[in-house]
Amino acid sequence: MKTEWLRNTIKDFEPYFVAPIAEKHVINANENYFNVLSIPAVKQELIKALDTFKPQIYPKPMADGLRETLADYIGARPENIICGNGGDEMISYLLGTFMNPGDTLLVHSPTFDMYELGAETLGASTIKVRDLAGYRRDKEGLLDAVKKYQPKMTVICNPNNPTGDLLPASFIEEVLKAADNLVFVDEAYMEFAQKESVVSLITKYPNLVVLRTLSKAFGLAGMRCGYLVADEEIINAIGKIKAPYNLNSFTQLFAPIVLKHRDEILKVRDDIVKERNRLFDELVKIPGLTVYPSCTNFLLVQVENKHEEIFKALKAKDILVKIYRNSAELPEAYRISVTTKDVDDTLLEVFRKELS
Ligand code: PMP
Repeated sequence: MKTEWLRNTIKDFEPYFVAPIAEKHVINANENYFNVLSIPAVKQELIKALDTFKPQIYPKPMADGLRETLADYIGARPENIICGNGGDEMISYLLGTFMNPGDTLLVHSPTFDMYELGAETLGASTIKVRDLAGYRRDKEGLLDAVKKYQPKMTVICNPNNPTGDLLPASFIEEVLKAADNLVFVDEAYMEFAQKESVVSLITKYPNLVVLRTLSKAFGLAGMRCGYLVADEEIINAIGKIKAPYNLNSFTQLFAPIVLKHRDEILKVRDDIVKERNRLFDELVKIPGLTVYPSCTNFLLVQVENKHEEIFKALKAKDILVKIYRNSAELPEAYRISVTTKDVDDTLLEVFRKELS
């Protein structure tokens, strides 16, 4: 391949690296440990639904049945929802619909990489507002930047990956009022915060777009299902670039069954939240370690030393966490997805031993 064949904007990009997995306890990707098929009714209903499943037929272009179920779950109208292969695909569609080369995207930093990557692929540039000490968002700085730059799109990841910080809906409303253009709120982890969703504001603000996913609290990361919620005109505009059959028939069949059993599945979410709080309380006590309060299913942790040694010691105990290497913004950091007490107790033992 000739290097000049590459789109100019991505020449310096590295392919997204997913670490090879050999460990038993993989807590590096904020997945849910719970398998929804372990609920007998979910499995039975799926098997029954497969009787009339027709994989030889293209799926519904707008995932009509799934849209209705999601609308019921979040309290919106189906026309305000567009579904796809995970939040990742929806981020690409959103940026692809609205960002021109030369446009600006405003983000707080550190945050999820896909916004910047997607915008820069399209030839747009990114303006970053660094977090305050303790990885809490600089609200004043963000509002000032919105007013000063009037970016094409302002992104707020709420609660934020990888810091766990949650901003109040009232602040997002201030951003919506200050912005002449689009405000994109990524609520991939909102079920773990259980408050401050801005989905209900889409009827008031036609410049608001909210992302949700079934990958986290619903434990369907492998199935791929994310969705955007926004004013109908925005949803229709995304239809200009959406692949006609982007969301496969199996997801369209299975996701509504899973959503029907949400009360049971969200009890697991409650367990994860409790375990997150316990793990936080234990990590705080370890000298040489800093842990940041989180409204998600993960915790951001930093150590004063032995960064690589602790990562290896965890691996030796069959635990894989996300490690940040050579990161100016996240020095000596790990991100730990919260699963169950047994895994966390082993993890705590390693931290205590290594830092004692
Ligand atoms: N937004 C955020 C903040 C995320 O952390 C992730 C997943 N890591 C996504 C969106 C995309 O998730 P998915 O594609 O699995 O829906």
